Amino acid sequence: MKSLLIIQVIIMAGCIIPQADKYEIRRIRMVETQIRNRGVTNPEVLNAMKEVPRHLFIPDEYLDEAYNDYPLPIGYGQTISQPFIVAYMTEAVRPTGKKRVLEIGTGSGYQAAVLAEIVDRVYTIEIVPELAKESAERLKSLGYDNIICKYGDGYQGWEEYAPFDIIVVTAAPEKIPKPLIDQLAEGGRLVIPVGAAGAVQELVLVTKRNGKTETRRLSFVRFVPFRRL
Ligand code: SAH
Repeated sequence: MKSLLIIQVIIMAGCIIPQADKYEIRRIRMVETQIRNRGVTNPEVLNAMKEVPRHLFIPDEYLDEAYNDYPLPIGYGQTISQPFIVAYMTEAVRPTGKKRVLEIGTGSGYQAAVLAEIVDRVYTIEIVPELAKESAERLKSLGYDNIICKYGDGYQGWEEYAPFDIIVVTAAPEKIPKPLIDQLAEGGRLVIPVGAAGAVQELVLVTKRNGKTETRRLSFVRFVPFRRL
């Protein structure tokens, strides 16, 4: 009986270990081919993308596609962004240890986790109550205790913890919400897709210097629409 149990444990271990390796290998390949090859160079961003287990942020039915070069559905009509876009936006806001970050559109929690690998604290808001709950639980179970989640409409930002050194918005409004600009710290960086739903959207970088904002267009993108409660 005892030896049977041991054999069983060995068989189980045999199943689990290659599985873990499989995703890690895919993740490293994703970083090299989809991200570094396309010009993302910040070592902390590349490292964060290697660390966060993206396959644990998506529904089981897409497990095999977790490290592919496209967005995936996460339910409720929402998506987890393409890995390159996550890395590109993260690099654009120049994350470093001491920074305080606000994310609008928690979704699966993946972008928040990537940021939380680098910065001190991430505050994130999600408007779909089910997603807000699921992602908060997921991030907690993965040990991300520097991410603070909230259900609500991110249009108003999060006054209580403002100002933020970095703001990342992962749903596209037609115009940049003014409260987000107000809550950006001096020297801060805000990255946001802007444009009508279904139309061409532009990823925009807003920086604040001496109280004035400067806007730079980065690239054309397609994000889910920014909703209001
Ligand atoms: N960052 C997410 C991407 C999710 S897609 C990830 O890594 O998985 C964008 C998300 O923004 C969706 O979950 C959508 O419900 C949410 N969203 C849209 N409008 C919002 C708003 N006004 N406030 C907060 N979240 C919003």
